[in-house]
Amino acid sequence: MNKILILIVAIIVTTTSCSKNESDRYPNVEEELHYYFDQFIEEATSRGITIDLSDIDGRISPVSTPGLIGLCQFEEEANNKITVDQNSWDEADTLFREYVVFHELGHCKLFREHLDNTDVDGFCFSMMASGTASCNTNYTLTTRAEYIDELFGN
Ligand SMILES: [Zn+2]
Repeated sequence: MNKILILIVAIIVTTTSCSKNESDRYPNVEEELHYYFDQFIEEATSRGITIDLSDIDGRISPVSTPGLIGLCQFEEEANNKITVDQNSWDEADTLFREYVVFHELGHCKLFREHLDNTDVDGFCFSMMASGTASCNTNYTLTTRAEYIDELFGN
């Protein structure tokens, strides 16, 4: 009887501490973005790079500039902040959402600037393409790994 009771208490403690960690991981990042922040860290880790995103803020909200899907704001006295346009987010699939979040973290965390070079087929060489240039982004499940290699400088 006592053993069962101890087990139940242990489970409750574990569950509580898990959900606490979950919400503390990215304190100023909207829940929907957490998966993509996790993915960013995972992709970095698999390339031997340690990334801490606890100092990045993130939100999904309407962006007033037409054609703008996301942005990164550099702050001097606060965390850098990424914003993804609400409409673009709602219409995007998982892959495109990842592309947008990774691109903005490319600015806000990796301090990358836009790069509009094209590859031999005329596609954007980098996922840091500005989106205003002549190259077309070709971010697919097939090309994804190569783009992320380039993003992290591998
Ligand atoms: Zn950009």
